[in-house]
Amino acid sequence: MSPQIIIIGGGVAGLAAAYYLRHLGDRVCLFEARTVGNDEASSFGQSRMYREMYSDGYFCRMAGHANRLWQQLEHEHEVQLQRRHGLLFYGEEFDEETIEGSIPGARRVMEERAIAFEVHDAASMAKRWNLEPRPEFVGLFEPTAGAVLADRVLRLFADEIRRAGVLLFEGRAVERIDLDGSQASVHTSDGAIHRADQVVMCAGPWTNQLLRPLGFDLSLELWLMLWAHYEVAQEHADGFPQWFCFQRHRGRDGGLYYGFPVMSSAPSGRPQIKVGIDWAPAEMRALRPHDLPRAPSPYLVDLLDAFVRTQLRHVEARVDIRCSPYTMTPDIHFVVDRLHPRLSLFAGGSSHAFKFAPLLGQLLASLALEQDPGHDLSSWRATRPGMIRPNP
Ligand SMILES: Cc1cc2nc3c(=O)[nH]c(=O)nc-3n(C[C@H](O)[C@H](O)[C@H](O)COP(=O)(O)OP(=O)(O)OC[C@H]3O[C@@H](n4cnc5c(N)ncnc54)[C@H](O)[C@@H]3O)c2cc1C
Repeated sequence: MSPQIIIIGGGVAGLAAAYYLRHLGDRVCLFEARTVGNDEASSFGQSRMYREMYSDGYFCRMAGHANRLWQQLEHEHEVQLQRRHGLLFYGEEFDEETIEGSIPGARRVMEERAIAFEVHDAASMAKRWNLEPRPEFVGLFEPTAGAVLADRVLRLFADEIRRAGVLLFEGRAVERIDLDGSQASVHTSDGAIHRADQVVMCAGPWTNQLLRPLGFDLSLELWLMLWAHYEVAQEHADGFPQWFCFQRHRGRDGGLYYGFPVMSSAPSGRPQIKVGIDWAPAEMRALRPHDLPRAPSPYLVDLLDAFVRTQLRHVEARVDIRCSPYTMTPDIHFVVDRLHPRLSLFAGGSSHAFKFAPLLGQLLASLALEQDPGHDLSSWRATRPGMIRPNP
């Protein structure tokens, strides 16, 4: 008899795990507290960047594996999941690593791994794109990078697992896990208790809430991240790249911004771009989800507006303001591990896990099935130094 597996969380990680376990049909059950694609979770939204342009060779290599899996998924389901429009790292060329890496670090890794890139100066960037780079800015463009169509990915995974007979319950929160018996007991918000041979936890920002009663407390910090859409001039809609801007001065915005090309329309019907600040000041950070603020600090919105006004061209009105949570680890590596013979988990997406989703799904499936994951996961172990807080 195949094992009974319960997955907690219907964000991209939990859905990907279920997708790679779907051959077990109704032996797999996924509980999602809210809805698939809900706007409180980290996976919410239309787009996420994918890239191999990493300062860390391990992430670069793993992103390459993930890209091959995205292509397999597209081929198998005859659906487009990625849009390849390139990615520009631009800004000041300083060696200090940010949560997204650095321009010199990424260049070193891409050279080592023979990944194609273009080098730009401020003039060539201003000519090619709707950017106003400062004269000292340099650019590194990875032409094979682009965007994952995130909302489409969630839909595909949810549809495919349902089709395979996996039991997907939305609006059903897991309240408690008991690992003491020969099987795990999972208590859900409808008062039921479910038995499982294996539990796969993918609860994103809510991870420690479920782990603490089990005696684990991971070093996870929640950051509430600000992003927004802006309308752009129709006649210049094609001139926006996908970009990260690195600035040495770490003010209250951390000096780090990002943006997407036009991928959708505003309610007015005009083209819109998505832009965000890739940094959370202290008042936007917390250890527990309910301690995060509900809205961004107003000065951050002003900083985002000012960046868009001064560093991009042909941008018009702001359409909306959004906030979504990052679950950060101290070293921005993920946690993909087995914490107990009956409990595996993914946590700590740290601003950049979406692009790895199919790989994470495969890794979690192999942990749940007690198979060799086929990759060196030592960088993503919960037992690496500093990842488990003592005495929860
Ligand atoms: C603004 C923003 C921009 C990002 N940009 C990028 C990018 O460009 N590229 C990239 O690769 N990554 C990016 N990321 C990171 C990536 O989106 C996340 O790492 C990833 O979505 C995390 O997915 P998850 O499934 O772990 O968590 P989540 O999406 O948060 O899912 C967790 C789910 O678990 C459910 N849940 C929680 N507790 C329970 C419970 N007790 N019972 C049942 N269900 C429960 C929640 O409701 C939620 O739906 C970005 C993240 C954000 C927020």
